[in-house]
Amino acid sequence: MQRGAALDGEVEEKLARLVAELKRRGYRVTAQRLAIARIVFENIKKHPSFMEILQAVRSRMPSISPSTIYNNLQLLEQLGFIKSFDVAGETRYDEARPHLNLVCLDQGKIIDIDDGDLVEEIMRRMEERGARVRELVVYAYCGGGGSGPG
Ligand SMILES: [Zn+2]
Repeated sequence: MQRGAALDGEVEEKLARLVAELKRRGYRVTAQRLAIARIVFENIKKHPSFMEILQAVRSRMPSISPSTIYNNLQLLEQLGFIKSFDVAGETRYDEARPHLNLVCLDQGKIIDIDDGDLVEEIMRRMEERGARVRELVVYAYCGGGGSGPG
């Protein structure tokens, strides 16, 4: 239960920050908007696709339209709470914190690599070239050989 409890705390903290940010920018804070954001934050570590988020939201709010969910995702991204990137032509949503995403082509999964030094080094070197890093994504074959990525 510890992991769940830790995640709950994280989700609550993000929701509190979101409410403050929405108010600060003059957006309406509606129950529906917060319910969608809660489900997004609860699932964000899985790098969900739009369809996965749609299904998760609809399991609790069956009548909600895809465009409402899409608009809320756009807003969360615009406010810096989530990021998105494309994998195999499909948009995947992700946490906004800096990290590297290892896309395992053979296993069809995305693993977060939380190597702060590596991430900083790449971002610094890209900035030297005038590139502002939006998302770090590495495509790889992760199965077989070695101890595997961790
Ligand atoms: Zn990630």
